[in-house]
Amino acid sequence: MAAIHPSVDFRSDTVTWPTDEMRAAMAAAAVGDDVYGEDPTVAALETLAAELLGKEAGLLVTSGTQGNLVAALTHAQRGDEAILGEDAHTFCWEAGGLAVLGGITPRPLSTDRRGRMDLTQIRSAIRGDDPHWPRSRLILLENSSGANHGAALEPNYFEAVYGIAQAHGLKIHLDGARLFNAATALGQPPRAITQWVDSVSVCLSKGLCAPVGSVLVGTEEFIHQARRQRKLLGGSMRQAGVLAAAGLIALKTMTQRLAEDHAQAQRLAQGLATIPGLQIDPGAVETNLVFFDLAEDVQISPGDLVQTLQVDYGLYLGCYHGRTLRAVTHYWIQPQQVERLVEALGRILA
Ligand SMILES: *Cc1c(COP(=O)(O)O)cnc(C)c1O
Repeated sequence: MAAIHPSVDFRSDTVTWPTDEMRAAMAAAAVGDDVYGEDPTVAALETLAAELLGKEAGLLVTSGTQGNLVAALTHAQRGDEAILGEDAHTFCWEAGGLAVLGGITPRPLSTDRRGRMDLTQIRSAIRGDDPHWPRSRLILLENSSGANHGAALEPNYFEAVYGIAQAHGLKIHLDGARLFNAATALGQPPRAITQWVDSVSVCLSKGLCAPVGSVLVGTEEFIHQARRQRKLLGGSMRQAGVLAAAGLIALKTMTQRLAEDHAQAQRLAQGLATIPGLQIDPGAVETNLVFFDLAEDVQISPGDLVQTLQVDYGLYLGCYHGRTLRAVTHYWIQPQQVERLVEALGRILA
């Protein structure tokens, strides 16, 4: 199977290839055995991530899923309960790891159209101390909200949830797979959000273009314990400096250009809104994720539409669920490709 070039691939921002600068840095990276704590490039990446997110220490992990799971296993024990959104990545897209590997009961709550759980519902989901009940221990939040048009949730929401968590002795972990997209859209530093949570994981390999990896951050003590959980999950790596070298560029420079992706997403949304047969509210597009629906009266199925786009135009789009499709903008997507996508969809649906 031939690789799909990311310049025609709107399926996700995970399809991004490392940049030439990253490949050069990876080739030249200073390395050591990171399980012995001797890889200087990994150490530099963890320090930078902690600094950017306003926490004491960081830990390189293999993926966003692993970062979230390591965090949950560190914060909670078997028999504990984690409150989370019913459409959260941690609930829907991580193979049930909380329950399977952590013995942690997920307590899903409904979310609004931007992915926020209701504060009153969070409060009433927190259980008292009774031998019948799992112990409420953890709240899992997400920003940007992947299932909700990549909504960039404001710091005051996190502050409010933090107040509740503090009052009941719960910890908060933030799944910040696309936190830098959220911060960019809000025009605020990531710390404005992360000051209200105990731990955060960010993906280096989505819009930030690194080939592999996420970083988990928290207090020194939390990271010390998290290191054991990472080992348990098979996520401790040796000369991982070759990966961290790309991660450093991701954090230093790729975080600075995400507004371009958001502008492209907005242009794409406005273009799609002009096509009869497609339903989209460009106002709901806050970051780089563009969700849109195929109208009920359109004859072609979503699967056939995606297939035609691929075969006839060489463009790749994601089928999300039902009649919902998703286009994601990222570093490799040039303005001409956004125009081509709008044109191609217009022709197919004409
Ligand atoms: C991508 C993503 C993750 C982690 O995914 P991996 O593929 O394991 O890196 C976690 N949460 C959200 C919201 C994501 O979009």
